[in-house]
Amino acid sequence: RYAQPDRRPAVVAGASSGIGAATALALAAAGFPVALGARRTDKCEDVATAIRDAGGEAVVHALDVTDDDSVAAFASAVTSDLGDIEVVISNAGSVGPGTIHEVPTERFGQELDLAVLGAHRLVRAFVPSMITRQRGDILFVSSDVAVRPRPFMSSYAAGKWGLEGMAQALQMELEGTGVRASIVRPGPTWSEMGADWDVDQAAFVLEQWVRFGLARHPHFMKPTAIADAITTVVSAPRGVHLNLVEVSPEAPI
Ligand code: NDP
Repeated sequence: RYAQPDRRPAVVAGASSGIGAATALALAAAGFPVALGARRTDKCEDVATAIRDAGGEAVVHALDVTDDDSVAAFASAVTSDLGDIEVVISNAGSVGPGTIHEVPTERFGQELDLAVLGAHRLVRAFVPSMITRQRGDILFVSSDVAVRPRPFMSSYAAGKWGLEGMAQALQMELEGTGVRASIVRPGPTWSEMGADWDVDQAAFVLEQWVRFGLARHPHFMKPTAIADAITTVVSAPRGVHLNLVEVSPEAPI
């Protein structure tokens, strides 16, 4: 991992569980002061306590990335607590299973709102001041589903595809500004994602991955693996841009 010489306040959106919680811990361990945001602030507080117990700096504020006012209030609170934010991890996400013709349009829209507009709200809240200061990182947690859409997760695939389209356009718009936009694209990872599916739904979806050759090895990674990749990307020295990192489970020996 690259050395982290400066104090660089970081935001993790969706820090209450899984990859986001692990990322907050990893960033703090690497020396970043961290602001944790999610709807479940009690779970963020547990992570923040672990960070502080290990000697790191952490603050928590409520965040719903689907709500303009919540994002604006969060941005203002974390900037007032930690100073200008240098690193934003856009990580909030969720997935619901279902065949395309049965998924209610409203739910499909809610997943797009979370995946695409949620990330856009974070860009609008934090990137302008990064451009002014000519430094900063915004990192989007995508999914391998963005490039290998999986059946029965169509709204999730559409959301991550849309997210990567926006992120790639942003990368070009930010060229020469000193601000880096990056994508981390994890494969299957143990987390709370899908924990609300019933067992039959989960088993069916996993069977379909195998049927369509979408799970080369049906193995899951730990959230810490993705957190380490994210920390490496935003710790790259100036002049280096890790613009897209795909993280997949290693084939079993
Ligand atoms: P988790 O369900 O454990 O974490 C999801 C996080 O997103 C939670 O902290 C949740 O917090 C937050 N979140 C959800 N909705 C909102 C919202 N409206 N506003 C703010 N925060 C929100 O799952 P993961 O850790 O797996 O997911 C993290 C990211 O990783 C997601 O973007 C997911 O798509 C991506 N990913 C996951 C993979 C996997 O296999 N698990 C594979 C590839 C990508 P709260 O509910 O408290 O608001």
